[in-house]
Amino acid sequence: MLIQNGSVFYDGGFHQKDIRIRNGVMEEIGPCLTAGDEEVVDASGCLVFAGFLDTHIHGCNGSECNEGPEAVRKACALLPNYGVTGFIPTFSLPDAETVRRAVQGVRAAKGCPGAEVLGMHLDSPFRYRTIAYYNIKVPPTREYTLEMTDHDLSDIRIISCAPELPGSMEWFRWITDQGVVGEVGHTECTADQVKEAADNGATLLNHFYNGFAPMDHHVSGALAGGLLEDRMYAQLTCDGIHVAEAFVKLTVRAKGIHRVVPVTDCSQFLGMPEGRYMRRDKEVIFKDGAARDPNGKLVTGAHPFDENMRTLRSMGFSLEEIGTMCGENPAKSIGETHRGKVERGRKGDLVLMTPDLFVQKTIMDGKVVYDRERDKLVLRHHDILIIGGRPCAS
Ligand SMILES: [Zn+2]
Repeated sequence: MLIQNGSVFYDGGFHQKDIRIRNGVMEEIGPCLTAGDEEVVDASGCLVFAGFLDTHIHGCNGSECNEGPEAVRKACALLPNYGVTGFIPTFSLPDAETVRRAVQGVRAAKGCPGAEVLGMHLDSPFRYRTIAYYNIKVPPTREYTLEMTDHDLSDIRIISCAPELPGSMEWFRWITDQGVVGEVGHTECTADQVKEAADNGATLLNHFYNGFAPMDHHVSGALAGGLLEDRMYAQLTCDGIHVAEAFVKLTVRAKGIHRVVPVTDCSQFLGMPEGRYMRRDKEVIFKDGAARDPNGKLVTGAHPFDENMRTLRSMGFSLEEIGTMCGENPAKSIGETHRGKVERGRKGDLVLMTPDLFVQKTIMDGKVVYDRERDKLVLRHHDILIIGGRPCAS
């Protein structure tokens, strides 16, 4: 496939370049490449990014990824509609057994068509801060970690842990040695403990601000520690709901544009119509991209990845800054060197967007898996599917 005439996000800026994809890989990048007998995609008027990765997503399309292989398949099918070509199913569950079942479900969905599952993110198994539904504190151990994963860490990408729990520093060293990203989250720890976690290998902050004790200027807390810790990436839910605009800007200013990783943290409601739902036996009202309890407290979000890019744009970030944060940083934060950037030799996954950041086409391995024009037509034709609910072509 040859993608011509696009404004390609390349080396931190936008440049008129063509991209040739062969055997699933970006083989050639340059001006005015000559078409051979391959398929040609005209990207005139479009911004072209490497396929986006969502490293913190619980579900979409009516299901949570911990509910079994079918839920994962639905996510794989839907996410290319938003430019996401790889994602990390994320679980926040009460105990080792429920995590283990969720892990098995994702493994059973391996290889399904659509966005690629890049492993799993165990969000908050070792938490200190009381979170919704689960208020127990589980100290991190190797045994518990292996129990959750059926003694197989090969597809576990990220595990979060509160640094104030006993044994956490030894655990961070061990989990890093296993090739898993050690992440600080769901914590009330001190700034010094964040630094100590980084000294012991932790490189990521779990959906920053959410799950952390709020800032108190009398206390050297985890949020201040996270802002000051240059060795750590900060996941940030940039939907304009989870984290207020001023805190998004503060994070980017403190940590720098290369250390902020936008995530959706979205849930089963992404792609669903607004209304009242039952979630874990509790009533929630889904409206304007957020699910709230009847008292108005935020329960979970449902903004897709590309919408968060538009939200960042409306906050005043430049397209270059958004390209860096949304395009490159997620891959870097999990050590993916084959994705996240338009570069010769990397995976042939691309997203073509309008200048105001609406996805026009998503390409995986040199094949169009989502086409806004085509899929709009299909939606109108069959008239059966909810917004965004059409599985991508495989
Ligand atoms: Zn989450």
